Amino acid sequence: MPPERYATRFAPSPTGFLHLGHAFSALTGFDRARERGGRFLLRIEDLDQARVRPQFEAAILEDLAWLGLSWDGPVLRQSGQTAHYADALARLDALGLVYPCRCTRADIRAALSAPQEAAEGAGPVYPGTCRGRPMQGRGPDDAIRLDLDRALALARARAGGLPAFTETGPAFTGLHALDADALRAGTGDIVLARRDSGAAAYHLAVVVDDARQGITEVVRGQDLFAATQVQVLIQVLLGLPQPVYHHHRLIRDEAGRRLAKRDDARAIRLYRAEGATPAAIRRLVGLPG
Ligand code: GLU
Repeated sequence: MPPERYATRFAPSPTGFLHLGHAFSALTGFDRARERGGRFLLRIEDLDQARVRPQFEAAILEDLAWLGLSWDGPVLRQSGQTAHYADALARLDALGLVYPCRCTRADIRAALSAPQEAAEGAGPVYPGTCRGRPMQGRGPDDAIRLDLDRALALARARAGGLPAFTETGPAFTGLHALDADALRAGTGDIVLARRDSGAAAYHLAVVVDDARQGITEVVRGQDLFAATQVQVLIQVLLGLPQPVYHHHRLIRDEAGRRLAKRDDARAIRLYRAEGATPAAIRRLVGLPG
């Protein structure tokens, strides 16, 4: 079989302007694709309709082009992929791994006697109040969750042990087995489909898209390391090909904090407005010119 052609993607959410951290991520992926004669794809993660704004998407495309990035093929928008997510969800349902959940955030907080913050401040880990509810009883306002313990048991059976993924990032290179305890403590029964719109939630959409786009290496920040664990688990359950993962260092502010969307002071467009060149941005984030 001929070796697979390298493909990576940059997958911003159009909920704000790109900042230096995004520039570093996109440039790292782009450089790796070009060095390998591979493809660099762009995916717009626009499922969170309450926060997505068309002007942010336009600004993202413009900033990336200004940085000197071009992408192969058309932009993939998650909002156009709903049938694929529904199909994946139906497959997880057929495996008996999902359940409907009617809990609100307030219910979840109330059910937790000692609230436990999930990794990366993603909110409390769901205590499993609705676990075991049958899918036939799903109401229009219910979210759909993954039953993590069942999922881990099936994945173990399939992979002959806990699944692992290959890390190519600078912090550690090699095989990384999933950590069931960390998944239970930090991730829990994640939402696969949202309660408000029924739209697919982040992890399910990413797994489906990475497979459909033929991604061979996911290049993204170390802050998504915990997300990788759950995404690899879903890949195994759906029988999808597994990319390797390159978790890169994070760009931080002077206080050592990871940049967030609200860090408008480091928005690429502000540097642009002040007359910075794309080469200067590369230098600022520590990349060779
Ligand atoms: N859309 C995510 C973000 O903007 C990135 C997800 C990913 O790279 O898998 O943080």
